[in-house]
Amino acid sequence: MKANAIFIYDERETAYRFNDSHPFNQERVRVTVDLLKKAGALPDSCMHSPPPATEDDLLLVHTREYIDCVKGLSPDSPEDCWVDKAGRYGLDTEDTPYFPNMHKVTLDLVGGSLYAVDAVMRGETVHAMHLGGGLHHALPSKGAGFCVYNDAAVAIAHAKGVYGARVLYIDTDVHHGDGVQWCFYTDPDVCTFSIHETGKYLFPGTGAVNERGDGPGFGTKINVPMEPYTEDQSWIECFTEVLSRTVAQFKPDLIVSQHGCDAHAFDPLAHIHCSMEIYREMPKVIHKLAHQYCEGRWVALGGGGYDIWRVVPRAWGLAWLEMSEHPLLGGLGSPSLSALPPDWLQSWQPHSAEKLPDTWLDEVESWEAMPRRAEIEAKNRQTKELSMLYLG
Ligand SMILES: [Zn+2]
Ligand SMILES: [Zn+2]
Repeated sequence: MKANAIFIYDERETAYRFNDSHPFNQERVRVTVDLLKKAGALPDSCMHSPPPATEDDLLLVHTREYIDCVKGLSPDSPEDCWVDKAGRYGLDTEDTPYFPNMHKVTLDLVGGSLYAVDAVMRGETVHAMHLGGGLHHALPSKGAGFCVYNDAAVAIAHAKGVYGARVLYIDTDVHHGDGVQWCFYTDPDVCTFSIHETGKYLFPGTGAVNERGDGPGFGTKINVPMEPYTEDQSWIECFTEVLSRTVAQFKPDLIVSQHGCDAHAFDPLAHIHCSMEIYREMPKVIHKLAHQYCEGRWVALGGGGYDIWRVVPRAWGLAWLEMSEHPLLGGLGSPSLSALPPDWLQSWQPHSAEKLPDTWLDEVESWEAMPRRAEIEAKNRQTKELSMLYLG
């Protein structure tokens, strides 16, 4: 029987950890799974544990030299010859330092995203979610921005190579989805769409509207850089309008989306001021477009998200509620149905320095409006128009 949506997860994936003080913490996937289970929204029958990827899979995107260096840096105490090369491959930085077992554990993450693509393209399920993936900054020969291997790019190359699919990649992370964009910059069969905080102030510095692809790929790379302190309405307006036009023009066979949730006001690494509302709305828009244009074929990955207690579990939980069409979603507006499970709050509150919100959505009415709201909205509208310059 064809499943409607599957959830790909294995505890092994939480071992992707640079060091104890690093902001990238896959514990957030475990906490999300626990939230969904306690909410009665993640039956065991939906859950799949994926096999690891192989080196051949990695070679779809990464260079032999880079893979060898990651492997060389994976022992507890790597040999000097590899340590000396770490800098050349971006693996000696504070952001993306090499760590024990990094090759193997990242193969697990890549494996989850490949499994998702296979399950959807073979028609075993309509949708698949793999929150351990979404390492969108890694480049063919370079680790960057907390990302060792680019599972999203490998999964897209696999979908193209094995199934001949035209793939639309949608990146909602607050940081530009640069690694995936550059991997397919001249490829007309892979469209990348990224909404993010403008690179003027934020890593990785790219993602301007005029990065549109090169050669035969021109016009298939779409960037929507938002102003710092952008709020829900403006973000959703720009996302929905540009994405709808992109999908209508590109007509994908498969959508792969990256659900970084670091555009939330609580996130410590960026300056966008959105609430949980965008994490309810964006998956809804993607879901609808997937059914409208590609028979529902939709793979959703994780991504950034550094308030791992107050933001990530709710944001990713909402994405799964949308993908699985859970009835909870319909009741989020009503006070009695919008509460998070009390036993989940009890389990995790002791781990969080901040008080955990007790509802799925935020009480935005009590938030202070951003001082330059009108100015920010006007600038974003200009950006939106420019990003659609070559869209029909
Ligand atoms: Zn659906
Ligand atoms: Zn990010």
